[in-house]
Amino acid sequence: MSEYDTISAEVDHEEEIPEDHPRYQDLLTRHRIENGVEKGITHLQGMHAEGRGSAFDYLLGEETIPSADEAERAAAAHLLLADHPVLSINGNVAALVPGEMVELADAVDADLEINLFNRTPERMQAIADHLRDHGATAVKGLEADARIPNLDHKRAKVDADGIYEADVVVVPLEDGDRAEALEEMGKTEIVIDLNPLSRSPQVAEVPVVDNIIRAVPNITEHARDLADAETDELQSVVEQFDREEALEAAEKRIRDGL
Ligand code: ATP
Repeated sequence: MSEYDTISAEVDHEEEIPEDHPRYQDLLTRHRIENGVEKGITHLQGMHAEGRGSAFDYLLGEETIPSADEAERAAAAHLLLADHPVLSINGNVAALVPGEMVELADAVDADLEINLFNRTPERMQAIADHLRDHGATAVKGLEADARIPNLDHKRAKVDADGIYEADVVVVPLEDGDRAEALEEMGKTEIVIDLNPLSRSPQVAEVPVVDNIIRAVPNITEHARDLADAETDELQSVVEQFDREEALEAAEKRIRDGL
């Protein structure tokens, strides 16, 4: 067992994780996911997803690489230009960045919608309560009165006045099938995922290859910076972003450390 395994197992509160630890962000992420599982917010499978993400973040050097920062600025511009932006929340997202998602929703006037791979009424409620504890005033996803076409029944459930009618959707840590189905609906998708080869970032208009704990606050910061920008300026931020280049830069960094 490594030193940081020991720390992760012993820490009750995240404040106890030493900030100067070389893998501080990994310890923080793991601690939040463990807490999420204990609180009934995160499914056990979320731990496997976290493990995959953690390996990629290690190779990225646990930092926001320049191409990810550009993607985060483009994401902010898309969200500010949107008629109806929605931020999709699953069990990992709720455990890792609840307050940060609420802040982003406020900054770009977006809805928050819970959408779970392993949907149970108890987990839906636990996540809604958790988001409200972190400042959310309205949480969508509980109605589930519409369906995403071409997806199996349970995972297709969305709110008619939420993801179903949204034009821009942020889908962090999403499985490939659902990301593809949303893309087929014509949504502009902003995917946050540490694995540039995963299907979700591959289908996204804006693939953000970064740890969600860094990505979301940075998108909010860009949104605040762009808050007074004219439509033309926002559009030029969107147009200047090259999704293929961003995916290639992330893969190169992971493979070559460059
Ligand atoms: P596919 O998209 O091909 O279905 P998958 O089966 O690996 O890929 P999931 O397990 O459903 O996808 O989703 C988990 C994804 O989330 C992984 O690609 C993983 O790298 C990513 N991930 C996990 N933790 C984080 C995190 N903290 N920040 C960003 N991405 C993360």
